[in-house]
Amino acid sequence: MDWFIQRLEHTNPTLDFRDFSSHPDDFKKLSELNIIKYSQAIDVLPCEWCETEHLISPLLNNKGEIVLSCSANRRVVNPDELKIWTINRETLEENVKSKVPVIDRTLFQQSAFASKKSGEFRITKTGDDFYYKGDLRATSKDNDWYKVFCALYDLIPDGGEISYSKLGTQIKSKIRKAKNFNAEVMRKFILTNLTDRSNGFMHYAGIPATEDNSKPLLYPNRGKGIIFNNRIR
Ligand SMILES: [Zn+2]
Repeated sequence: MDWFIQRLEHTNPTLDFRDFSSHPDDFKKLSELNIIKYSQAIDVLPCEWCETEHLISPLLNNKGEIVLSCSANRRVVNPDELKIWTINRETLEENVKSKVPVIDRTLFQQSAFASKKSGEFRITKTGDDFYYKGDLRATSKDNDWYKVFCALYDLIPDGGEISYSKLGTQIKSKIRKAKNFNAEVMRKFILTNLTDRSNGFMHYAGIPATEDNSKPLLYPNRGKGIIFNNRIR
């Protein structure tokens, strides 16, 4: 279960098809114990041909299968590839106290996931204002970088990782012009407004290039999504 302990280094971990297919026995056990639960389906997948993300065609092929296509390439998608699972916090906490825990109790207690309630955060929000280590850095404004950061903060206020697809859906609910963005345009829009050092939140809120843990506050996890390094250890 080392892989599962690694996932607990995020305060809001999600599991996906790669976990499902790499650790099928562990995955089955965690599901049966109700420690993990199916959360939602995504509608974009990373592409193996061009290294971006593509919207999954809502049209099925003539066998009723879901298809991923990229210029001349096509392949059938296993429906499990689109699933996202989350962790039942209380069930996992109960389990690690039991006589047959799925993971070591000490390792669990040291994880970011377990320490969530007592943590401190680099960015905090009061009303519509964001504070960086206690200093006011961003107040409500009608601009993209503020709204994109709000969308991120709505979803993972404690930090962690969020996929481009989930963040994109939240952004579409806040920014009218983004409603018709495809996955590629949305990915660039997110990067421009969050991680770009000359343009987005990092720039306008005056956030240093790196934090004490030598990682930036916001940075892309290539092809997958954004990491929000908000927890002070
Ligand atoms: Zn492609």
